Amino acid sequence: MKFVLASKNEKKLEEMRSILSELGVEVLSEAQAGVDVTVEETGTTFEENALLKAGAVMKASGLPAIADDSGLCVDALGGAPGVYSARYGGEDLDDAARCRLVLENIRGQLSRACGFVCAVCCAFPNGETLTAKGECRGTLAYAPQGENGFGYDPVFFLPEKKKTFAQLTAEEKSQVSHRGKALRAFAKALRAYMEGNEYGTDR
Ligand code: IMP
Repeated sequence: MKFVLASKNEKKLEEMRSILSELGVEVLSEAQAGVDVTVEETGTTFEENALLKAGAVMKASGLPAIADDSGLCVDALGGAPGVYSARYGGEDLDDAARCRLVLENIRGQLSRACGFVCAVCCAFPNGETLTAKGECRGTLAYAPQGENGFGYDPVFFLPEKKKTFAQLTAEEKSQVSHRGKALRAFAKALRAYMEGNEYGTDR
């Protein structure tokens, strides 16, 4: 059974392939499926945005499509940057400037609690959808630390590891991260879904 990943990100494609390979599903890139879709992320939740992306690629390709959406939610900022994580502070900022901005905006707050959230969704041509979510709770570091990863990784401190996400290897991060958790929950839900209908694993 073929699925398309609604993303232009090669790393996400590899991660998705490795997690879903044991289900006997083939994950195609948008290019392999012959589509090139740009979707405006107008949703107010991670699930809504993931479904918008998956639905658009499913319609363009005629194949079941998987998409994810994720971001950092800071409790004292009312859940911001949230679904606006990639554009927080405007399109001109880079990752380092966004990390500085979130630290500036939290200055003086008693709580530095925050969480990364990820939703993974699949839209099927029969109109059905599957959604899985993962969350990883942590605190905002007082200054960026670490060189690995991307986005807000240098300012996301994990108390149980006493390290920021940017100080973990990719494998260590995937074991505890919002995306790792959401992908593993999604694989489980997809297996159950495929066992129960026409997407049976023998097709
Ligand atoms: P997307 O869901 O891949 O589009 O990610 C949205 C934005 O959330 C990214 O541009 C990052 O700013 C932030 N983000 C999501 N996941 C992570 C992560 O694992 N580490 C750091 N930042 C992340």
